Amino acid sequence: MARDHDDTLRGTVARYLETDVLLGVRAAPLSPPVSGSSSAAPSPSVSPKELAKRAEALRVLDEQQVKKCTKCELHQARTNTVFGQGSAAARVVFVGEAPGRDEDAQGIAFIGRAGQLLTRMIEAMGLTRDEVFICNILKCRPPNNRDPAPDEVSSCWPYLDEQLRIIQPEVIVALGKPAAQTLLRTTEGIGRLRGRWHDYYTSGSPLVGEPTPLMPTYHPAYLLRDPAQKGKAWSDLKMVMEKLCLPVRQRK
Ligand code: URA
Repeated sequence: MARDHDDTLRGTVARYLETDVLLGVRAAPLSPPVSGSSSAAPSPSVSPKELAKRAEALRVLDEQQVKKCTKCELHQARTNTVFGQGSAAARVVFVGEAPGRDEDAQGIAFIGRAGQLLTRMIEAMGLTRDEVFICNILKCRPPNNRDPAPDEVSSCWPYLDEQLRIIQPEVIVALGKPAAQTLLRTTEGIGRLRGRWHDYYTSGSPLVGEPTPLMPTYHPAYLLRDPAQKGKAWSDLKMVMEKLCLPVRQRK
């Protein structure tokens, strides 16, 4: 009985600490790193020349295709396209759904309230926004932030696919249901998809080409609406950190 109580208490404290770390609220009593190198830098195996080549390929894709895109009706109301930002040799790419009002106004992905939480999640992983790459399935804002329509996704997806081919991340994190379902070509719910590894194939065909490990997790906008789910998102991000050999700190 007393043991059960202790375990419950420990679980509750653990959830609070993990959520605190996720929010960057305060330092939790953490032990030293358990595994891997502490390098959070963009892929160390990518030479400066290769990095410049990838950055140029991204720039050309943005300037010559995304900024000029009129493939779906979303181009009519956009202020800016939102290509995505970060390192052209990022080890991890975060993929959200679509730009919102703030992102449309500034042309930068995830800079509103949800974006601020995403920034804290990335920082809790020991990374910075400059070290990862952050983008969306759609490059233009849907009116009133409605869900992306199927024709918009099929028009825009090739841009994301090309971004992923250029960046060659070690891991993709799909933020929320539309991103996870699009990238995994599935209708399974995010609650069932999250918390386990999946394979992303740029070829579009399972088992053709090299897959990239993909971790679905909750969208930060959902976490703002239901903060009780933050512990689960943090547990997904810890799996990503383990995969990248980033130091995952354990409670004492
Ligand atoms: N939500 C998203 O999915 N993407 C953004 O860029 C901003 C909010």
